[in-house]
Amino acid sequence: MSSSGTAPSDHGHTGPSDHTGPSAHSHGGEGPGDPCAGPARGLWSVDEHLDDILAAVAPLEPIELQLPDAQGCVLVEDVTVPVALPPFDNSSMDGYAVRVADVAGASEEFPAVLTVIGDVAAGAGGLPEVGPGQAARIMTGAPLPPGAEAVVPVEWTDGGTGEGAAGTMRPASAAPEGAAGEVRVHRPAEARAHVRARGSDVRAGELALAAGTVLGPPQIGLLAAIGRGTVRVRPRPRVVVISTGSELTQPGEPLTEGRIYDSNSFALAAAARDAGAIAYRVGAVADDAESLRAAIEDQLIRADLLVTTGGVSVGAYDVVKEALTADGEVDFRKLAMQPGKPQGFGMIGPDHTPLLALPGNPVSSYVSFELFVRPAIRALMGLADRPDTQRPRVRAVLKADRALSSPAGRRQFLRGTYDAESGTVTPVGGSGSHLIAALAHADALLVVPEEATGVEPGTELEVVLLG
Ligand code: AMP
Ligand code: MG
Repeated sequence: MSSSGTAPSDHGHTGPSDHTGPSAHSHGGEGPGDPCAGPARGLWSVDEHLDDILAAVAPLEPIELQLPDAQGCVLVEDVTVPVALPPFDNSSMDGYAVRVADVAGASEEFPAVLTVIGDVAAGAGGLPEVGPGQAARIMTGAPLPPGAEAVVPVEWTDGGTGEGAAGTMRPASAAPEGAAGEVRVHRPAEARAHVRARGSDVRAGELALAAGTVLGPPQIGLLAAIGRGTVRVRPRPRVVVISTGSELTQPGEPLTEGRIYDSNSFALAAAARDAGAIAYRVGAVADDAESLRAAIEDQLIRADLLVTTGGVSVGAYDVVKEALTADGEVDFRKLAMQPGKPQGFGMIGPDHTPLLALPGNPVSSYVSFELFVRPAIRALMGLADRPDTQRPRVRAVLKADRALSSPAGRRQFLRGTYDAESGTVTPVGGSGSHLIAALAHADALLVVPEEATGVEPGTELEVVLLG
């Protein structure tokens, strides 16, 4: 544990002593990433901390996944089309498969009268041959039978009722396969009319999806359509969220004196899932370094990324710092940021699993997640270069009754609501990092730059949209 003892934590406001702190790598060269990384001064900027994380976190090794499990993942192979799509000529309408010459010149007044030789349903095999003067009743998606050259929609016929008026298809039972019947066709048809040609969607051998494609629902659909049951992708990262604090009670249990409910592990597990990860939530671990080390040890086996909350300040029970400082794998540093000043980052265990130790205050941990954990998850997924690695950012005009004050030298993230129509952002709640209710009513973070000590209403600010 740090012995400086008096330095303020994320709980409260800090003074200019922020700027005179020790080197961020005071434990010497053992930290993650480049041991020479980080600022010469005590505080890391938000960007330096993020860069340090992204430099150390590599995309997960690709694996073969069942199609439904690959949603949201990045494809790592070029997928070519094994068989043409559609695989055979088929009808785009319910109607009659006919020969063009038989319906030439047909009209309401002088319909072409054809013998119906049977039904062709979607999925049918053993197709009837359509000869001169004949038609086969055909359903959407059914293969075009040999001999037929076009499909006449049922609306352009009497529907086989023999009454001369356009009718609807009769139930199959009314016209059993092979049953003799007649259909009157009221219009001519061009060759291939209402026929979807084999390969008209994609041809065999064509590139269906290139490596690097993110598999959304339409891409999953295409892979299924060309018969792929599994695909090679970078898997969703398994993110383990561990909250710490002896004061924490699990929701649903009675609250005894001096205790509060654990909200961080729920919020961050939800945020991890939202970012594309498979999230495992570990209920609060007490402020005891041995218990925490054991919990982390247990979780390492299933984690691609570990996130802890709480215990990173310089208080007497700052368990994460205490448990993880000793072997030097995790670097605890202070950021020029509010909320979220104390942060830890390192690669731990035999597999060098990234661990981000976030501060305990609920707003601090959530803002830290958005700024650092979300990009780390996206990097593990192989999405580091994409624009959606970060939340979208826009410029918006501050709408407020009075000026906001902001700590000098710290990038401040205030909660607010963004109105796209007016291009304004309105703060919700204050700057306190315990204000969970205000966070729940916000949809944006207002970014007040390091150099600003106040922001007048009407000022344009950067805004992070929380989606
Ligand atoms: P710490 O950094 O552990 O001292 O926590 C800072 C503040 O956040 C304290 O008021 C804690 O009670 C609170 N806190 C820590 N962890 C959680 C949690 N999982 N859920 C809700 N509040 C928390
Ligand atoms: Mg704590």
